[in-house]
Amino acid sequence: MNPINVKGTHDILFADAPYYQYVRNIFSEVASLYGYSYIEPPTLEYTDVFIHSTGESSDIVRKEMYTFDDKGGRSVTMRPEFTAGVIRAMVSNKLYATHDLPLKAYYFGPAYRYERPQLGRYRQFIQAGIEAVGADSAFLDAEAVLFAVSALGIMGFKGLKVKVNSLGGKESRAAYRAALTDFFKDKIDDMCEDCHTRLELNPLRILDCKVPHDQEIAKGAPTLDKYLTEEDKARFEKILFYLNQMNVSYEVDTSLVRGLDYYGGLVFEVHGSTSKGEDLGALLGGGHYDGLLSQFGGPEDIDHGVGFAMGVERLIALLKDQGLELPESDIDCYLMPMGEDTFEACFVLAQDLRMAGFKVDMPYKAAKLGSYFKKAEKRGAKVALIAGENELKNDSIQVKNLATQEQREVKLSELLRTLDDLLSEDEPEHHCGCGGHHHEDGHCCCEDDHHHEEGQQCCCHHHEE
Ligand code: AMP
Repeated sequence: MNPINVKGTHDILFADAPYYQYVRNIFSEVASLYGYSYIEPPTLEYTDVFIHSTGESSDIVRKEMYTFDDKGGRSVTMRPEFTAGVIRAMVSNKLYATHDLPLKAYYFGPAYRYERPQLGRYRQFIQAGIEAVGADSAFLDAEAVLFAVSALGIMGFKGLKVKVNSLGGKESRAAYRAALTDFFKDKIDDMCEDCHTRLELNPLRILDCKVPHDQEIAKGAPTLDKYLTEEDKARFEKILFYLNQMNVSYEVDTSLVRGLDYYGGLVFEVHGSTSKGEDLGALLGGGHYDGLLSQFGGPEDIDHGVGFAMGVERLIALLKDQGLELPESDIDCYLMPMGEDTFEACFVLAQDLRMAGFKVDMPYKAAKLGSYFKKAEKRGAKVALIAGENELKNDSIQVKNLATQEQREVKLSELLRTLDDLLSEDEPEHHCGCGGHHHEDGHCCCEDDHHHEEGQQCCCHHHEE
């Protein structure tokens, strides 16, 4: 059989795995800073879940879903996005009855869309995102943008563009739809087939059309800001005010509509391009929505939410482009059994060292010392432990610092301490942005006390001069 993967999917191999872990770890940490809890709805949902929320007029529902009948004849769909499933899970489990509102959920996992594969566009890709559901507040809307910007900042991105817009509430959108219908009705014959359907289902979607000729026509379309009610305008201005207060740089893009039907009010995207100028599309997109809970039979009086999703493959492509280098999983020590008779002792020692917290590997059959050293180097080991028969009889082992090439015999009873010393020598210094000034009483007040020792310089994030 040809070992070929499904078109548009990709394997996450050893070298890429640390990048996925990096994004996931930072995303989870930021989620806990903002009070979000992890949620993981199934990859497979009944198809209705997406039709009635993601929306019948969205490209996703119309063209991109992996939908099939299961063996029981039920139509099921591989999730094309998370919001619908997360809200469905909140309602199925009545989370709003048992938890404080807003429900703040974050997620990380694969989504599936039958799209044309290209740079930054896959048929299976990973999304990391949040949903805050059950409260209606400009603070919460602004917080979603802040969360996104902070997470990207901590990941180390530079030069990203944040775009925001307001779609307004139902009344504003209805007025705008009418204006768009009016604008496009005598131009539609000249536009793509998709846009014909879009005009019927939801003329806003025309603004998302990727056909250059249609985009040119759409440039002359009326912009949404002119149709916002006073109330919607005031809400948007509040959000922008909070973002200004937090020094978030953004641009208001009145053509930003997002491709999912449930959005109303704030919408936002973050964009980045590679050093070669390749546009990766939106790194993330999100916004405010009303009415999703009740789509699933949830309560109407708390039926508001805000969220966003970032595309992890796109983030990783840009992180690499911006120079982030993460090593493939490396080890601390490579254990080298010298001769068949030392294997069993090494096997036991490796386990002891691992349980003491050291990353250790060893060969599983005897080879020459030279090939052991090559393996140690390939695995990024900092220390080689050479276990000769004589040393083991003497309850000791040769310890070689692979950076300095220094080697000495160490008693096994001293081994943990020796490794601790050797491996902490090249532990990276902790930088926290406090500028390195001394903390008054020599005591660090940062919560996790990272690497700060009494009397040293302060590494606390919240240090005031
Ligand atoms: P959406 O759910 O359409 O709002 O998309 C949110 C984010 O998911 C986008 O900004 C992308 O970063 C990512 N994304 C969407 N579709 C794809 C895809 N086909 N391949 C890779 N990433 C995607």
